[in-house]
Amino acid sequence: MTAALPLPALHASHAGTWLRDAPQVAGGATRGCSKGEAVMAAADTPLLLLNAPLVASRLGYPDLSGLDLLELFAFVHPAKFCVPTPKGLAHALGLEEPASDDAVPLLLQRAGAALVGMCESPDWAEREGAWSSLQSLARLRWPWAQVLSPHIRQPERAEKWLFARLPEWEEAPERAQPQQVLLDELEVEGQLERLTGEGAERREGQRQFSRGAGGIFAPRDKNKRPHVLLAQAGTGIGKTLGYLAPASLWAERSGGTVWVSTYTKNLQRQLRQESTRAWPAARADGSPPVVVRKGRENYLCLLNLEDALQGGFSGRPAVLAQLVARWAAYSSDGDMIGGDLPGWLGTLFRKRGIAALTDQRGECIYAGCPHYRKCFIERSARAAAQADLVIANHALVMVNAARGRDISGRPTRIVFDEGHHVFDAADSIFAAGLTGNEAIELRRWIVGPERTSRGRRRGLAARLADVASYDEAGGEAIEAAVEAAQALPSEGWLGRLAEAMPAGPVEALLAEVRTTTYARDESGQEAGYGIETETAQLPGELVEAAGMAAQALAAIRQPLLKLSGRLEAVLEDAPDWLDGQGRARIEGARHSLAWRIDLLAAWEALLARLGGPADPDFVDWLAVDRGDAREFDVGIHRHWLDPMKPFAKVVLEPAHGVMLTSATLTDRDESGPDWPGAIARSGAPHLDLVPRTAQSDSPFDYASRAEVLIVTDIKRGDIAALAGAYSRLIEASDGGVLGLFTAIRRMRAVHGRTADRLARAGLPLYAQHVDPIDTGTLTDIFRDDPRASLLGTDALRDGVDVPGRSLRCVVMESTPWPRPTILHRARRAAAAAQPGGAKGFDDRIIRSRLAQAFGRLIRSREDSGHFVVLSAAFPTRLLSAFPPGAPVIRLTLEQALQRVAQGVGAQDMIGAAQQEADTQ
Ligand code: SF4
Repeated sequence: MTAALPLPALHASHAGTWLRDAPQVAGGATRGCSKGEAVMAAADTPLLLLNAPLVASRLGYPDLSGLDLLELFAFVHPAKFCVPTPKGLAHALGLEEPASDDAVPLLLQRAGAALVGMCESPDWAEREGAWSSLQSLARLRWPWAQVLSPHIRQPERAEKWLFARLPEWEEAPERAQPQQVLLDELEVEGQLERLTGEGAERREGQRQFSRGAGGIFAPRDKNKRPHVLLAQAGTGIGKTLGYLAPASLWAERSGGTVWVSTYTKNLQRQLRQESTRAWPAARADGSPPVVVRKGRENYLCLLNLEDALQGGFSGRPAVLAQLVARWAAYSSDGDMIGGDLPGWLGTLFRKRGIAALTDQRGECIYAGCPHYRKCFIERSARAAAQADLVIANHALVMVNAARGRDISGRPTRIVFDEGHHVFDAADSIFAAGLTGNEAIELRRWIVGPERTSRGRRRGLAARLADVASYDEAGGEAIEAAVEAAQALPSEGWLGRLAEAMPAGPVEALLAEVRTTTYARDESGQEAGYGIETETAQLPGELVEAAGMAAQALAAIRQPLLKLSGRLEAVLEDAPDWLDGQGRARIEGARHSLAWRIDLLAAWEALLARLGGPADPDFVDWLAVDRGDAREFDVGIHRHWLDPMKPFAKVVLEPAHGVMLTSATLTDRDESGPDWPGAIARSGAPHLDLVPRTAQSDSPFDYASRAEVLIVTDIKRGDIAALAGAYSRLIEASDGGVLGLFTAIRRMRAVHGRTADRLARAGLPLYAQHVDPIDTGTLTDIFRDDPRASLLGTDALRDGVDVPGRSLRCVVMESTPWPRPTILHRARRAAAAAQPGGAKGFDDRIIRSRLAQAFGRLIRSREDSGHFVVLSAAFPTRLLSAFPPGAPVIRLTLEQALQRVAQGVGAQDMIGAAQQEADTQ
């Protein structure tokens, strides 16, 4: 029998609460108890728990603490995957799954014993560094330290400090430009066959897709005239290998780099896996041919970590820093968001600890950093420059194209997979917003930390101290910028706005923005939700405040410009002390400066327009962001009416070949796919380009594997009926339901009314924005337990890739109408003059959402299930969103429950059997 740790254990789910004594007390019995009893027991003695914040939320007692097995797991097995549920923990440790809730406390004791036992084992792979780390954790009074101390022996030789153990990246020569090669269609097919493997089924759709993709790698005939291909590829045609075949062939022949850009992390993970068919893990010289590249805010900044370990963090965040340091030593790439750092680790510590360890604010000091040669971000950037394939996301590809540090490293052959998201990604990347939060970030970047903040964060003067002392004019420019930046908002600005006591010209402007937004918003949003108003007919006070703020911003931009010029001069006429590292640091500083100068210029342009005539290319509005009954930002926003215009200029024009592909690239109305619409949204017409188009239909048999059920008897706005429908559908399908909502408020209400009852029936229900768990981990939990169900909002409509039985029913709370925001209204008005008109514009958005949500259901040939929409008045014209052949049935909830309970196809089979029996 597996040993148990001699400590009491507590488990709380929506179905109840269970306590188990330490094994030495009365043989260690498990008993159900009240929430109050559990809280008292936890206050008395440290209890073994799994995911303390989740247990705390189940008990309704936020201050709960104890010995969290997830923290122990993160210490013993850093960088190892574990689904943070009793079942997931059991799997990760090779223990027997608990059969029911009351068996969980015993599992916790056994898991504790297994983890502690591992520390004594000679096979413990992650021993290195553990003893030193435990000494620091003991000083921080980490509750596990006392338990672990007797089991981790002191190493004979002193352990290397993390920063000494990490490998250094090596400088590589710049890559030559790619050779011009033309891929033959037969060669592309041959490569595809190699990648799919011998004996693999020959799929004509995939071959056709692959041949088409090969065309984007052809040499360009004219400058600024890239090859552009729009390829619609139905789910299941195997498009990933379809484009990796020509991409790998081209990379090999030309010596160039192909970028594949995705919208979701799931696809990045999948691509990484699939790419192993085309490329080895490492080349002969040890360099990786395939690199996953993310925005710098995803990676651990070693300098921030060092600072946190040396006193920058205290209390619980300091414990987090120690556990992150353990992970950093074993991580494959230092990616903290979606990499091998468990997604749940940050949420165990509640505050924004993880974010503070990344380089969120662009404070990197590049070669001035003692860890520069080991930096994860620098390593990944350098590896990408030498790679054959870079896997990135839409936002990063656009940011890199717009303001990449190194022009030669900008992507020129790009496959945008999940291409239906390119518009939204461009919409946010090319937008500008002068908000309080953005402005205070700029102030901190220039001025440095405010009195109350801890840690190493430093202002411009400290970061460029050597330049300031060497170059007098540069020093003066820094001083002037720091002085002028005092005009930006500072800590406490939101409170001062609420009290109508703004400090400085930018806060004064934001106060006017806030007043006007409250005065004019008519969206009917309840307190707690964001409000907004257009920038027309603005009050004189606001326009005047905008003028003052614009002057203040210009006064910051001028010295920054001057400083940039001085840095250039220092580089050109380099002093003796400026070695290679110093040069790299100054180049880095120039790059960061250029970005801030552009930001200030964009803000000034935004303010200059207020009160003047509207620019038809842009949509401007004022907004107060609110959530959970408090304001968190106030500002002025500007979006492009058509963000594909800057996309075309910045991304398409300099590229040589670009492909946009997705299962839902085109809208589909009754007359078939709308290619003109897809072409218009690709950005190509802004360059007078006519892209090639291709279509490969899904090989899935939707007619027999899926049913669309439109439930017509749930009244809109009736929360009790909505909750009842969800809970009965979950019961009928025995879990495995993905519930999609357009409003968090309704999702919370449904979860609150149903979770306990379902849990008592052994059907766990999780929800985004309710459970203190990040979305990626929620999806892992859902995937791992076929009886679990998950409720969520937009992010889940695209981000969930759960093939198999775990997802067998998708339920949408209603028709997903677009939110009538000011931006939406402007785009709708612009569409009124286009074919299809404003109504067609809305229909396209809804159909696209329905198609994406439906796409969650059938991920593989073996999948089957129901797609349920709770909508009394679902317009027939929207039905073309579903794949041709998928049966659509309008019915009552009772009828839907029957169909869901019987499973897809079962009724038809029963009907067919009946018919056969009748004819005999
Ligand atoms: S080089 Fe920059 S991002 Fe990297 S560790 Fe140093 S400060 Fe952090």
